[in-house]
Amino acid sequence: MLDSVRVRLTFWYTGLLALFLLALSLITYFIFWRSTLQRTDSDLSELSEAFLTTVQAEIQDNHGPEAVKLATQEAIVEHRFRDHVFAVLDAKGEVLTSSQDLPNETAPPGLLASASFRKLMEDSAGTDHLFRNVLGGKNGYRGLARKFPLKGQTYTLVILQSLHPQAEMLEEVRQTFAWVIPIAIILASVGGYFLARKSLAPVVAMSSQAGRIGAENLHERLPIQNAKDELGRLAASFNELLERVDQSFERQRRFMSDASHELRTPAAILRGESEVALSRTERSAEEYRESLAVLHAEAQRLTQIVEDLFTLTRADAGQYPLSPKDFYLDELVADCAHATRSLALAKRISLTCEVPEELPIRADEALLRRMILNLLDNAIKYTPEGGRVSVSCQRAGDEYTLNVTDSGPGIPGDLQQRVFERFFRVDKARTRSEKDGGGAGLGLSIARWIAEAHQGRLVVSRSDSSGSTFSAFLPAQVSVAAAPAPVFR
Ligand code: ADP
Repeated sequence: MLDSVRVRLTFWYTGLLALFLLALSLITYFIFWRSTLQRTDSDLSELSEAFLTTVQAEIQDNHGPEAVKLATQEAIVEHRFRDHVFAVLDAKGEVLTSSQDLPNETAPPGLLASASFRKLMEDSAGTDHLFRNVLGGKNGYRGLARKFPLKGQTYTLVILQSLHPQAEMLEEVRQTFAWVIPIAIILASVGGYFLARKSLAPVVAMSSQAGRIGAENLHERLPIQNAKDELGRLAASFNELLERVDQSFERQRRFMSDASHELRTPAAILRGESEVALSRTERSAEEYRESLAVLHAEAQRLTQIVEDLFTLTRADAGQYPLSPKDFYLDELVADCAHATRSLALAKRISLTCEVPEELPIRADEALLRRMILNLLDNAIKYTPEGGRVSVSCQRAGDEYTLNVTDSGPGIPGDLQQRVFERFFRVDKARTRSEKDGGGAGLGLSIARWIAEAHQGRLVVSRSDSSGSTFSAFLPAQVSVAAAPAPVFR
C-alpha cells in the first residue's frame, strides 16, 4: 500500500498536519492557562488591596487588645466571596482570624493546617508578596500571602481562590481539542487522498498509455492536457524521448534492411556463379578460371561490405580503438596517391599529388589512410576515362586541409549531403553495374566518421558538372584519446 505515491503523499500530509495541529493546540492551551492564572493573580491582588483598605477603616472603630482581630473579622465578612478563603496570621504564624470560622464555609476544614498551606507561609517569610498554588479541595487553590503592618505589628493576609472554575474552563478547552483535532485530521486525510488522486490521475493515465507503446506503435504519443504545467512538461519530454527512440529505431530498421539487401546481391551472385560452374561436368580451364575470378571478386566485395559494417557498428558503440601516433600527413597523402596510381592508369586518368610542406600530425595513421584512399578511390571510380584527379594537402591556420578533386560528373546539389548517409548511392544502377567493384555506399560514411573521430570534418566543398572536390579539415594538434561515436545516420 505504501508503494503508492498517493498513499504516501496522504500519510505525509496527514502526519504533518497532525503535528502542526498538536503543536498549535499545545501553544494555545498554554497561553490560555497562563492568562487565566495571570487574571486570577491580579484579582487576588485587587482583592487584597480592597481588604486592607477595609481593615484600615475598621481599625478606627475598634480599640482594645481585640481590635485587630475584630477589624480583620469585619473585613473578611465584607469581602468574603464564595470560592475564596481569607486568613489573617500574626507574626508567629498563628491564625488570628479566618473565613473558615464563619458559617457556610465551603472550603475543606483542614485547609489552613495542610502541609501545602504551611509551605506557602514558610516561603512567604522573606517577601511581601507571594503567589503560590495550594493543594486542597477538588482542583486546588491559588494563594496570595501578603504582609501588612497594623498597630505596630506585622500580619500576613492570605487569600486562597479556588481554581475550580478555571479547571473546568481548561477541561472544556481540552475536550474541544480532543474532538476537533481528530475530526480535522480525518477530514484532511480524506481530502488529501482525493486531492493526491486527482493530481496524480494524469500520471497514472500516462504510465498506462506508455505501457501500451511498443516497437509496433512507437509513433504513438502521450496526450498533453496542459503543456505549461509540470505534468504537461513531463509528457512533452516523454514524447520527445519517444520521437528520438522512434527515429533511431527507424534508422536501425533501415540500416538492417539496407545491409541485408547489400549482402544478398553478392551472396546470390556467388551461389549462381558456383551453380553454373558445377552444372556442367566438361568445362575448359579457361571457363573455370573465369568463374573463379567472378567468385573471387564477389567474395572480395562481400568481405569489404562486412568489414565496413563491422567498422561502423563498432564506431556507433564508441568501441573502435584509435591508435594515435606521430607521423607526417604529407607523406601519408603521397603514399596513398602512389597506391592508387595503377587504378588511375588503368582508366588513363592523370593523378597529381601536391603536398608543398611538411605536415606533422598525431593521429591514427591507418584510419586516415583509409579515409584518403576512400576519397581517391571514389574520385577515380566516378571520373570517366581520360579525366583528371588531384590530391593536395596544406596547412591553413591551425588545421590541415586535404582536398581530393576530380573531373567526374559531379553530385546534384540536393544530394551532396546525402552521399555521407549509409548505403546512399547517387545512381544505384550505375555503380552496381560497374565491374570495378561498385561500393555499397558505406565508404563516405566511414570517411566522415574518421574525420570526426579526429575532431575534424569532411564535406563536399564543390561539385558541379566539371567535377567534385571533397575536403577534409583536420586540426593540426589532434587529440584522439576520446573519439566520439558518430552521429547515427
Ligand atoms: P560507394 O561505395 O558507393 O562509392 P560511397 O559512400 O563512397 O559509396 O559514396 C556514396 C555515393 O556518393 C556513391 O555511390 C556515388 O554516387 C557518390 N560519390 C562519391 N564520390 C563521388 C565522386 N567523387 N564523384 C561523384 N559521385 C561520388
